[in-house]
Amino acid sequence: MESATASRAQQFIGNRWVPAANGQSLPVLDPSDGRPFASIARGGAPDIDAAVRAARRAYGNSGEGAWGRTAAAERGRVLAKLSQRVLDHAEELAQLESRTTGKPLKQGRADAAALARYFEYYAGAADKLHGETIPYSNGMTVLTLREPHGVTGHIIPWNYPMQIFGRSVGAALAAGNACVVKPAEDACLSLLRVADLAAELGFPEGALNVVTGLGSEAGAALAAHAGVDHISFTGSPVTGTAVAQVAARHHCPVTLELGGKSPQLVFADAVLDEVVPVVVNAIVQNAGQTCSAGSRLLVQRPVYEALLERVGERISGLRVGPALADLDVGPLIRQNQLQRVWDFLSQAQVDGIPIAAQGVVVDSAPQSGFYQAPTLLRDVPPQHRIAQEEIFGPVLAALPFDDEDEALLLANGTPFGLVAGVWTQDGGRQMRMARRLRCGQVFINNYGAGGGIELPFGGVKSSGYGREKGFEALLGFTTLKTIAIKHG
Ligand code: ADP
Repeated sequence: MESATASRAQQFIGNRWVPAANGQSLPVLDPSDGRPFASIARGGAPDIDAAVRAARRAYGNSGEGAWGRTAAAERGRVLAKLSQRVLDHAEELAQLESRTTGKPLKQGRADAAALARYFEYYAGAADKLHGETIPYSNGMTVLTLREPHGVTGHIIPWNYPMQIFGRSVGAALAAGNACVVKPAEDACLSLLRVADLAAELGFPEGALNVVTGLGSEAGAALAAHAGVDHISFTGSPVTGTAVAQVAARHHCPVTLELGGKSPQLVFADAVLDEVVPVVVNAIVQNAGQTCSAGSRLLVQRPVYEALLERVGERISGLRVGPALADLDVGPLIRQNQLQRVWDFLSQAQVDGIPIAAQGVVVDSAPQSGFYQAPTLLRDVPPQHRIAQEEIFGPVLAALPFDDEDEALLLANGTPFGLVAGVWTQDGGRQMRMARRLRCGQVFINNYGAGGGIELPFGGVKSSGYGREKGFEALLGFTTLKTIAIKHG
């Protein structure tokens, strides 16, 4: 089989590397210097159609295809091999991820390890997806079967390509679906390499397909394709809404993971030594371009000044530079994302919101790269857009509160509900807060921005619906069939 290593301007459809049907390609920019360094195929509707057909053949109309017939234990074995292949190529994958996303190499390495771990986790889970028997009438047995959807579409964003591929495609394959993946046009080289590694393992033709291209072309075509049985989307709320609307036309279920404005609630009895590094990392990891970034710091008044001083000190010490220089923070993904962050910061300036601290972009960072110094803004009015909207950059908004009720009002008072962190030694308060926070994950005295392969993850309100990660994700990649047998 031809490898995609030599030419990345190809897509993986039906176990073959093929150029876009229109013959066109797109440049890939390196965010660290803003320059093009590779190209990918500009796939569109015909390529998506070919991939969906290949996936359909692999699954079959009702599980009779080569992948559809593959036993759960065997699917697990193939995924376990893929996990090992990823580990064997972890450094190469990490470099590709860092080069295309701009994240420091240590984060690229962590993401490669996470990808392997997702495959390992779902490999082990593949043959443990049970149905149930249900007590019903005398003389009858009723049971449920967890069946794959069939062909699943996966629209992947640019911030964590490998991690999001792992959690979504790993779970979907384990559950027995054939997958069509549309990675983000900005950052997909790592995923093409993963497809390469998968191809060597003998997945049946069409079980895994990767079509590259623009969201408005390949992405929109995947969402609209009537042959797709389920779509998993991670990205911006605007695009997620569009995807769900288009998919609804053919009654295709959708899982949406759309981001957040996640709060860290720090009470006066918290252990500040533990709070400071975690809070800072939760906003600067991946330069703040993390759905579950802890972008709001809500602090009880008696420790507001003390905590801001310490968080500010740490932020001031952060160095921002090229991904492969592996400093504390890398560049943002592209110019318009940088511009978006600048717009928020200039609005803050106009409205008199004080900057409490800023990190440093190193002198050696190329001028043409997309660098933003991490910034701590203090006394942000709760209704200001800095405290309400997802900035998707390394900007932390600090707000004081007096008591639990006010903390909850602030924490729940945005359109989002993805993750929250609660810092307190009081056990009763920990549970009161955890129960009343409207979001999908609550961390008590710790915070995992994007972390936790085993932990179900997803949001409420504008953060989306459905759950990825953990065993729960497997349920989302299946549909339930009830069989009622009358036997007397
Ligand atoms: P951003 O605006 O930061 O690029 P998006 O949410 O638009 O974030 O992108 C997430 C993923 O959605 C990417 O793979 C992108 O190509 C894809 N995408 C963008 N627009 C559409 C669309 N209209 N339909 C389907 N997918 C899309």
